[in-house]
Amino acid sequence: MSNQFEVEEVKRAANGQWVSILAEAGLPTELLDGRGQPCPKCGGTDRFSAFRDTEETGGVMCRQCFSERNGDGLSTIQWLTGWSFPESLQFVAEQVGVQPTAGVTTCREVDIVATVARAKRMPVEVLRQFGAESTKRRGKPVARVPVYNEDGQQHSYFDLTPDGKGLFRKGKGSAGVFLPGQLPKRGETRLLVEGCKDAAAFVGLGFKAAGLPRNEMEAKYAQLFEGCDVIIAPDLDSAGMTGAQKTGGRLKWIAASVRIARLPGEVVKSGGQDVLAKDGEQAVRTAIEAAIPWEPSSSDADDDRPEVLITFDEAEVATEVLKHLGGLTCPISSPVSDGAERPAIFEHCGKLVHIVNERSPENSLDDSVPQIQPLEKPIIRERITQAVRLVEETNSKDGTILVPKRPPDWLTQSIQKRGNYKYIRRLEGITGAATRWQCDSEAWLRRAVRNPVSTELCFSGDP
Ligand SMILES: [Zn+2]
Repeated sequence: MSNQFEVEEVKRAANGQWVSILAEAGLPTELLDGRGQPCPKCGGTDRFSAFRDTEETGGVMCRQCFSERNGDGLSTIQWLTGWSFPESLQFVAEQVGVQPTAGVTTCREVDIVATVARAKRMPVEVLRQFGAESTKRRGKPVARVPVYNEDGQQHSYFDLTPDGKGLFRKGKGSAGVFLPGQLPKRGETRLLVEGCKDAAAFVGLGFKAAGLPRNEMEAKYAQLFEGCDVIIAPDLDSAGMTGAQKTGGRLKWIAASVRIARLPGEVVKSGGQDVLAKDGEQAVRTAIEAAIPWEPSSSDADDDRPEVLITFDEAEVATEVLKHLGGLTCPISSPVSDGAERPAIFEHCGKLVHIVNERSPENSLDDSVPQIQPLEKPIIRERITQAVRLVEETNSKDGTILVPKRPPDWLTQSIQKRGNYKYIRRLEGITGAATRWQCDSEAWLRRAVRNPVSTELCFSGDP
């Protein structure tokens, strides 16, 4: 038994919403601009177009597919998906919230993976090879593609809908790699591209590909490509090119070889176009064969600060930053400067402190006395930026990219007020005896740091 819907009622409800209904069924919205476009079913360059009143009627035209004017959205759905009339009617009814007049069973489940594949113009079997499965996100059907971590385990996912960019698992979801089933193997050639969609397109062309959720790959994922010949094919925008350069550097000593392919087209500032769609397959193959070995560039000048991703999990971000703050050092300036360093930040009585050398007015000698001083907010901000590179994910036309961030207020606050500093070295105090050393205060400090049992400067435990 199937659900019964009143055809006219469904059509009335769909009037004015057809573009989004067709998008949900897998018709790319950009083909509905009224101009001549390639047909989503039969290809070509300009044989397909939307009517001026497509939003009201759902009618579209293809010179090849339709022999007569097709001014009806339900026919469009049938033609696009291959569903029967009752199935198409039910689909539209569900989209616009029309209830069935009779019948309670569902006769058709939308295969969301197939729908997404159609909308994104990827072969559905390739999308399944990347592990895509039908599921729901906030009640809405999505095709969920797994994201792999550095150990080759699925640790996150990316949800694709027929329209829209796709969403990662909340939080740290966008770190990792998209892989078509098998992990990269030593000795094989792997193409590394941006995004799941591009990776699927290349797999569709017969390449072994992997997709990066962002425009650069974090260093820890390089181990997945150990012993592989990697060809990075970045998007043609400046973020893509910069990202590829960084990714190359991270793969350099781990992959057997690293090359960068310059896909045909111009590098634009942002919004690099979809190369596969634009240029022919052959041009893309030629570009990949012509990939050139990765070379370090002068602009890579090593910013070796570790990257910390700002997420909604504020406690986790603060802990991560504190870990790196604990490792931050500063040089000990002393008459015999040998480049020795000491921690830049200590914990003292549950507060973050640093040691400043203060000149005491009653001291006739031209020297200073080390003092414990609380770390004020501006200094905490400064130390954070010295210790780590804060980045935040943002959705751009090119998908999810990372943008540098200044330390947000909640982070400095949280670090200042936390009271519990697991990763920060504890300083019990500088005893009165310090004054005995004032003529040689930095040397004194150095001895104290080297020898934590020193009575003058007492550490308890290791960080
Ligand atoms: Zn057609």
